[in-house]
Amino acid sequence: PVTLSNTQYNVLIGPNLLQQAGILLTPLLSQKKVFIVVDENVASFHLQTLANSLTLSQIEYETILIPPGENTKSFKYYEQVVNTLLEKNVERQTPVIALGGGVTGDLSGFAAATVLRGLPFIQIPTTLLSQVDSSVGGKTGINTPTGKNLLGAFYQPQIVIADTHTLNTLPQRELLAGYAEIVKAGLIDDIELFEWCENNGEKILSKESHYLDEAVERACAFKARIIKNDEFEQHSKGRNLLNLGHSLGHTLEAELGYDGRILHGEAVALGCCLIFKLCTSMGICPQEDTDRVLHHFKSVGLPTSIRDLSFPLQASSLLRHLQHDKKVKNTKVLFILVNGIGKTFTSQDVREEDLLKLLMNDGCI
Ligand code: NAD
Ligand code: ZN
Repeated sequence: PVTLSNTQYNVLIGPNLLQQAGILLTPLLSQKKVFIVVDENVASFHLQTLANSLTLSQIEYETILIPPGENTKSFKYYEQVVNTLLEKNVERQTPVIALGGGVTGDLSGFAAATVLRGLPFIQIPTTLLSQVDSSVGGKTGINTPTGKNLLGAFYQPQIVIADTHTLNTLPQRELLAGYAEIVKAGLIDDIELFEWCENNGEKILSKESHYLDEAVERACAFKARIIKNDEFEQHSKGRNLLNLGHSLGHTLEAELGYDGRILHGEAVALGCCLIFKLCTSMGICPQEDTDRVLHHFKSVGLPTSIRDLSFPLQASSLLRHLQHDKKVKNTKVLFILVNGIGKTFTSQDVREEDLLKLLMNDGCI
């Protein structure tokens, strides 16, 4: 369960839940009609299963197909989705189902939040990243030419159905990128989760069902705990902490573009490593903790240094991008720093020369 001030919803986790979607959704529906937003990849693998399940429960559906990829989280496709919903005479009670990864969830959640000032919203995440992170917590939105996720709304789903079996069709690189967000959760304030990842990472990544389910459950429980105390990201020790590694991560994504040279989760893994290195060089995080974090990310095949990217990156350009980050307050970037594994705090006191040194030492030009 995710418990918030005005609402509560469940995150269901397990194999083969998609087949049961019709039965699981029926008690939530006030009318037997839904819209499914799905990208072309996910449609080819999993739409039929959902459609069959809805039909068995006599739930009518219409499908809105979008292209896969981060570039779909844009004004253009937002407009297309909301126009389709309106042209098809969507009603206030008609739910929108996001079937797919974080791109589909963020875009369709924002459409659901805004069409007729709010349609019921249902998340059926199909990437590891969306199952452990983006489908829970209510952040929805799109990117703008100025940067990522700059337009959006807090809008909670009515239910999250995370069918871990759908991950069987997910490319391994995407699975690994999602795994980075689980490790990140441990690094924030759950050393037990981090240790569990150290011991079981290989099993999770080889999709051993029991471990995969437990990983999703642990990460969702962690996220539910954080957002419960800070639904709207207002406290310095709350939701903000979920952005560990993200200021630098988003900067790397923006610099490299959204065409697959770096995935969000890869950027987050590298961003976390950079923060640990920075904090060790500032004398506030033990070297052994940083070594341990780097060792784990490296052992599963995630990038731990800018050198691992094999694309030339300019430190000055990265620092410029950093200024566009949403977490800029009074012109200073709000960083999530660490005193060690599981010990995070926010700070605006990172000196530009320290960042520059970090990036140059890590392989930037
Ligand atoms: P994604 O939605 O682009 O999915 C990745 C790729 O996998 C796509 O090509 C998709 O078509 C494909 N895919 C999805 N499920 C599949 C399956 N089961 N089998 C085969 N292919 C499948 O990316 P993502 O990594 O899920 O999400 C990234 C997005 O999530 C970013 O835009 C990021 O900003 C956002 N995000 C949001 C939050 C939040 O709180 N809202 C949190 C973290 C990340
Ligand atoms: Zn993230």
